[in-house]
Amino acid sequence: MRDCQDAGKSNLTCAFPDGAAPLEAILDAKRFVGVPWYTMHKIFAGLRDAYLHTNDGIALGVLVKLSDWAITHTRNLSDQQFQRMLDTEHGGMNEVLADVYAITGETRFLKLAQQFCHRALLEPLAQARDTLDGLHSNTQIPKVLGFNRLYELTGQEDYGAASHFFWRTVVTRRTFATGGNGDREHFFPPAEFLRHLDSAKTMETCCAYNMLKLTRDLFALDGAAAYADYYERALYNSILASQDPDSGMMTYFQPARPGYLKLYCTPQDSFWCCTGSGMENHAKYGDSIYFHDAGTLYVNLFIASTLAWKEKGLTVTQTTRFPDEDRTRLHLAVHKPINLTLNIRHPSWCRTMTISVNGRRRATSLQPGAYFALNRLWHNGDVVEVHLPMSLRTEALPGHADVVAILYGPIVLAGRLGRKGLTPGADIIVNERTYGDLLNDKVEVPVLAGEPSEIVNQIKPAAGSPLTFQTTGVGRPHDVSLIPYFRIAHERYSLYWKLLKP
Ligand SMILES: [Zn+2]
Repeated sequence: MRDCQDAGKSNLTCAFPDGAAPLEAILDAKRFVGVPWYTMHKIFAGLRDAYLHTNDGIALGVLVKLSDWAITHTRNLSDQQFQRMLDTEHGGMNEVLADVYAITGETRFLKLAQQFCHRALLEPLAQARDTLDGLHSNTQIPKVLGFNRLYELTGQEDYGAASHFFWRTVVTRRTFATGGNGDREHFFPPAEFLRHLDSAKTMETCCAYNMLKLTRDLFALDGAAAYADYYERALYNSILASQDPDSGMMTYFQPARPGYLKLYCTPQDSFWCCTGSGMENHAKYGDSIYFHDAGTLYVNLFIASTLAWKEKGLTVTQTTRFPDEDRTRLHLAVHKPINLTLNIRHPSWCRTMTISVNGRRRATSLQPGAYFALNRLWHNGDVVEVHLPMSLRTEALPGHADVVAILYGPIVLAGRLGRKGLTPGADIIVNERTYGDLLNDKVEVPVLAGEPSEIVNQIKPAAGSPLTFQTTGVGRPHDVSLIPYFRIAHERYSLYWKLLKP
């Protein structure tokens, strides 16, 4: 890339066969001419990551020159022209330029990052107005990542107000039980959830990917347990659910349509934005288990892992088969005894969390959705055991009390509806244009008879098989077996159930 940049003599390096032409066309685009800044953002972000993760000075050099090219390229635009250019999807250009500023300290890059903030989105969000209906979801989320990064770097309040409000309104009003959002890549009016439930093109995987990035950034700012709760929900039910256990390929949309199935990209012929972000997705299992400040270690997720905190001389080894078991163990190894607070997340789905230290019951937390602080002088070999009992519950589709998803602890359960009409192997071959029309034959999806509170009493665990359940006597015309959505593959399923009055 450096050779290309040097040969071009303009500091531009890009993947366009016709060089800067798309980037010229977009400068004053009155009609759609593609998404060149979206494509450029991937190059900027890749160079940044190569520098940050591998300390590659060549990558940084190319990135700084490319950023200077962007300044030159947009220099003659009026403010109005710049904003019109931003009406077209442009990825996280504001975020990556803010990072270039953070790396170099050069304020010219901060200025450009701020110019790349799309005010048509920033202004309503900063005023706590949700104007997201009909907007392309994954165009907006990266812009908000940039607002939040600029808030971190400048403290300018409209940026922070916008990122916080956006997260809150998307997660509380626009999100399915799995943590995913949208239909056909777009936010829809929350009052229309029921209509979109019939779509095979809901919950684009990139949207979960970017919401998790935003969630992680907001957690780092505020330390609120609600962010960790959402992170767990989307990690297990969107990201872990997105990969084909057989082929390794990944989902684009995750269909809400009852009786549909997950379709995956293919190695040679069919891949999308969600394949690209999907390559990064499965590194997320390790990236947000632990956080710390000066004297506190936050345990956010219950995932088998080893944490080395060198400055403290502390190694934490977490051992668990969560969510197949409802407990986890933290083994602490220290060079010499240290005083430290362990902030253990009490998940919102768990009524009573108990904590034992070295085999003795030490505490019971009755506050779901908060942290339990365990402060003591830790010795080498101390073991903390956390018990997180899970139970079944229903969650209504937003605005529709009689359409529910069934969850066990943090795990969304999907009903197994069989393989009727599917041919072995063929169901992962996907043509993006026909996606959603592949299976027009509808299969019978049972309804459940009963009130939400009663129905969970009629769902029984299967012996010897964790996270596997069976409805008993409430399914019409027949009962259904339930397994985690993340384990469903190559099979029709339903995530939501219509309730009938008994
Ligand atoms: Zn995507």
